[in-house]
Amino acid sequence: MKPHYVLNYANGRWIEPIGGWAEVMCAVTGDVVAVVGSQGLNFAAMAEYARCVGGPNLRALTFHDRAKILKALAEALMARKEELYEISYHTGATRQDAWIDIEGGAGTLFSYASKGRRELPDATLLIDGEAEKIGKTGSFIGQHVWSPLQGVAVQINAFNFPVWGMLEKLAPALLAGVPVIVKPASASVYLAEHAFKIMIAADVLPPGAVQFIAGSPGDLLDHLTGQDVISFTGSAATAAKLKGHPTVIREGVRFIAEQDSLNASILGPDAAPGSPEFDLFVREVAKEMTVKAGQKCTAIRRVIVPAAWMDDVEVALVARLSQVVVGDPRAETTRMGSLISRAQRDDVRAKVAELSEVATVVFGDPQTVEVSGADAEAGAFMSPVLLRCIDPWAGDAIHDVEAFGPVATLMPCGDLEDAIALANRGKGSLVASLFTYDPAVARQAVLGAGAFHGRLAIIDRDSAKESTGHGSPLPVLVHGGPGRAGGGEEMGGVRGVTHYMQRTALQGSPRTLSAIVGQQLIGAPQTTGDVHPFRKRYGELELGYTLNTTSRTISLEDIEHFAHFTGDTFYAHMDEEAAKASPIFGGRVAHGYLILSFAAGLFVDPAPGPVLANYGLESLRFVKPMKPGDSMSVALTAKSKALRNPQMGEVRWGVVVTNQDGDVAATYDLLTMNAV
Ligand code: NAP
Repeated sequence: MKPHYVLNYANGRWIEPIGGWAEVMCAVTGDVVAVVGSQGLNFAAMAEYARCVGGPNLRALTFHDRAKILKALAEALMARKEELYEISYHTGATRQDAWIDIEGGAGTLFSYASKGRRELPDATLLIDGEAEKIGKTGSFIGQHVWSPLQGVAVQINAFNFPVWGMLEKLAPALLAGVPVIVKPASASVYLAEHAFKIMIAADVLPPGAVQFIAGSPGDLLDHLTGQDVISFTGSAATAAKLKGHPTVIREGVRFIAEQDSLNASILGPDAAPGSPEFDLFVREVAKEMTVKAGQKCTAIRRVIVPAAWMDDVEVALVARLSQVVVGDPRAETTRMGSLISRAQRDDVRAKVAELSEVATVVFGDPQTVEVSGADAEAGAFMSPVLLRCIDPWAGDAIHDVEAFGPVATLMPCGDLEDAIALANRGKGSLVASLFTYDPAVARQAVLGAGAFHGRLAIIDRDSAKESTGHGSPLPVLVHGGPGRAGGGEEMGGVRGVTHYMQRTALQGSPRTLSAIVGQQLIGAPQTTGDVHPFRKRYGELELGYTLNTTSRTISLEDIEHFAHFTGDTFYAHMDEEAAKASPIFGGRVAHGYLILSFAAGLFVDPAPGPVLANYGLESLRFVKPMKPGDSMSVALTAKSKALRNPQMGEVRWGVVVTNQDGDVAATYDLLTMNAV
């Protein structure tokens, strides 16, 4: 096989390095599959290009524009996914393993594209929370906003998910408006390169948005500043080295780390052999050991089981692991492919030797394995290895040593507290799972273990069918864990986008801050005019435009009519004596929904026009009851606008209902869809 020369992509050009070549082997055959190097790249110029070209280009786009780019990238990758599957076999991954990497990666882009359109504004600044009134009269307010960092996001990735690992970091950074330099792990760089090439070929990214380093990142870190972010996935040793880099420390470069993690799974004290949770637990442990040959940051390493059921779990696990066919990842009968490299296999074998000092191997031989359709020694094949430790409190190794392969250790626990303490002894992990049908057990585990784990998956018979399992990080949930796991956090929907932004507390007058953020904030000046706001098209409606209605008096007959018409005859509206005795009402009051209905009657302009539909109310509060004889009037103010498609946009109206004394009776936001 002719090796593939992996290219770098710097300053908008594909670049062949001038030297420093290293060979990368096929994980299955041991043949050279790629040659990689980055010598000759000008890393300082790459950082500068990202900052001076990529950053301004991305920041000129709105969140919605960037979301559209992510969607186009995902579509391009999906359209050419078979090319990626084909290359992926060289990493030792089966089609099922590669699905997580390739389609899971594209799925993450799709998810961020959708979140960007639905949860972020069609704007360049992101508002964080409500405005805070600071001065007595409201002429001085505070508002938090997020803006994109004006630097570059440098990703340094692990070998195990060359596509997903790149995309789960790329999506939030680009959506935030920050350009990216990708540095994949060398062992699988050829797959990351192909996915990267597909994205460049899609021709949807602005110049400078992305660059690619194949091989060493050279002196790139020397050129980083406090506006830059390093997102690292890999070993704790490399993380410590990079975190301690003098420039990273001096400049305060943001550092997000996902590193070693000794993830645990606990069999609940209620999940006896024969229960659905017991079976689910055994299935999940076996799956986590063998998917991707156990080379998953989230894989179960520590299997914590009530002491009385240790033998049952061992027998069931051994039965499952005996069925696992190790072999050529292309073959449909293969359940587990190879590790990424023979060096990685050597490392896992060495780690198993360390674990064997405090635990006994009860399944698999780390040194030999029967391989179907491939050469066991030429490729990086290895058997699943299950160890059993009798006294998990005696040996540190099972809680400290991560064998990054198809390896897990079974250990007994006493009561639930003991199980939780063992799970926490991993000193911080990406994920822990618990198999129980008892919510009280689950609650105790969350209170006891939540602080030590970035994600807790509680799996039972009700959720099993739809469960994504112990090991799957999801774009909508946070991925990352405290302590040993690196202390970082990625994804989690919009949370992940803000990792590439700066939150700033703005202070100023409502008029100024409203103009900055493009929303009508508390206390901002309102305008009025002869034209009813519902007669204005989306594009004609200016924020702050307000309708102050006439007033309407609420009579006892209105209340009784509404009560009988709707069937809501709650005592507060119908029984004077009972209502008087109430500490809240002090007599009969109008229904809150009657006030809403009358408010609509006061502000609606009935003829067909630009308002296409009313589609919701938000933040509704009934502040002060209205009694028979009270009069109400309404102020309706255009508060914010968001274009949904070329034909229509959402208008958010602030609605304030006041009584005859000017006291606020109700407030809410009304949402309408308006023609452009
Ligand atoms: P690694 O050796 O730490 O490498 C990770 C990345 O760092 C690679 O891209 C590597 O590049 C790069 N790197 C290494 N030394 C560097 C340096 N001095 N300067 C700049 N970059 C440097 O880890 P790995 O072998 O790829 O991955 C295996 C380990 O990662 C496992 O042991 C596992 O614990 C951990 N892991 C953790 C997670 C998680 O999310 N927590 C996920 C996957 C893996 P080269 O490949 O070019 O050397």
